[in-house]
Amino acid sequence: MPTSDVEVVVIGGGAAGVAAARRLRDASVQCLLVEARPRLGGRAWTAHDSDGHALDVGCGWLHSADRNPWVAAAEAQGATIDRTPPPWMNRPLDASFPRAEHADFRRAFGEFYDRLDKAAQCENDAPASTLLNPASRWNPLLNAMSTYISGAELDRISLKDLDRYHSTDVNWRVVEGYGTLISTHGATVPLMLDCPVNAIDHSGARVKIETSKGAIAADQIIVTVPSAILAAERIRFLPALPKKIEAAHGLPLGLADKLFIALENAEEFETSVRIFGHTDRVATAGYHMRPFGWPIIEAYFGGSCAAELEPGGEAAFFDFAVSELVGVLGSDFAKRVRPIRVHCWGSDPFSLGSYSFAAPGFADCRQTLAEPVDGRLFFAGEACSRHDFSTAHGGYLTGVAAADQVIAARRATKA
Ligand SMILES: Cc1cc2nc3c(=O)[nH]c(=O)nc-3n(C[C@H](O)[C@H](O)[C@H](O)COP(=O)(O)OP(=O)(O)OC[C@H]3O[C@@H](n4cnc5c(N)ncnc54)[C@H](O)[C@@H]3O)c2cc1C
Repeated sequence: MPTSDVEVVVIGGGAAGVAAARRLRDASVQCLLVEARPRLGGRAWTAHDSDGHALDVGCGWLHSADRNPWVAAAEAQGATIDRTPPPWMNRPLDASFPRAEHADFRRAFGEFYDRLDKAAQCENDAPASTLLNPASRWNPLLNAMSTYISGAELDRISLKDLDRYHSTDVNWRVVEGYGTLISTHGATVPLMLDCPVNAIDHSGARVKIETSKGAIAADQIIVTVPSAILAAERIRFLPALPKKIEAAHGLPLGLADKLFIALENAEEFETSVRIFGHTDRVATAGYHMRPFGWPIIEAYFGGSCAAELEPGGEAAFFDFAVSELVGVLGSDFAKRVRPIRVHCWGSDPFSLGSYSFAAPGFADCRQTLAEPVDGRLFFAGEACSRHDFSTAHGGYLTGVAAADQVIAARRATKA
């Protein structure tokens, strides 16, 4: 197929782009997926350690798994779904969080979400931090949770947006990796890898997409790049789209980074038990011991803590993790661990962060970001989702929705 002239170009090959391109191809629309990286998957990326364990350095959990469309895709691929409850549903290791204190924290967590539910009914939006109980000892840890859930502390987050997120609380994993699942799903669509898009000229009769490998003309396009890439204007629109850029600024990407650590004598720990680094501060990581029973620790860092560690790379994340784990498990523990891998999503030039949240007052930007322009430019990606933002299934659903809009627009033109 000539790649310089196609019916539809999909820009970005993450969850949204792959789902959109599959839908278009299945509807016999001639499409081309253009991706900046040398691989598909975007923020879904599975690496492997020397023993062949699949390590998801980006998304790992099939959230809302009982209605998550990636589950059917995994089954179609013959991939292995693991239904072990996630570590945050289990009681943490007593040494890191004594049982009674953990129960008290769970209560405070539930009460915070009850206040969120109520406050979201009011007309005015506000930072989610306004819902903290000033007298509660658990505020630092609630903020730490926020850095894992949203990638940012509560004072940066719109309470209305946070309340709109829908979860069914069913969380599964795919043993071969979420990244592998998504890239495999896209492997059969026509695509160009290693091909960043620099500009989109929609001033003429056809849309002209300028890439590092030359220009492509299309009837319509679906833009699925992260909101932070749009906000940073890494892709220029001609004519400019100030409303879109403004909406993207209202939906920054929070930061979450994972460090994988190899663990000797791992059997000491139950599979999937969780260790809290600290329970009294915001800058602390969560440690998922033995995911899938493997001799590995998956350490999760969020918000300002992750941002401060990124410039120091793997060594900085590992030193931080070891100092927290030694604090809980004793100094000999340091001899049993070594770093395997980290990925710094904040400094990744094609994501500039991990997942989107709305700034206070900007919750409705998700709809603005998702709106088509002139029946020719369509938008998808997790940040466009009203209820499933920040997730790979949110990406999928927005990708399919944008593809369906394209298909409807093409039918309307032909009729
Ligand atoms: C550490 C971490 C943990 C996470 N955990 C989970 C989880 O457990 N469960 C979950 O559901 N989600 C999780 N997420 C979020 C999830 O990964 C994302 O929400 C989802 O993958 C986003 O998909 P997308 O298609 O919207 O965007 P992306 O995956 O970012 O896809 C956009 C694509 O656009 C490409 N691109 C960028 N600029 C250009 C350009 N100029 N030209 C061409 N292409 C370009 C990018 O390379 C990328 O491939 C996590 C993310 C991270 C980072």
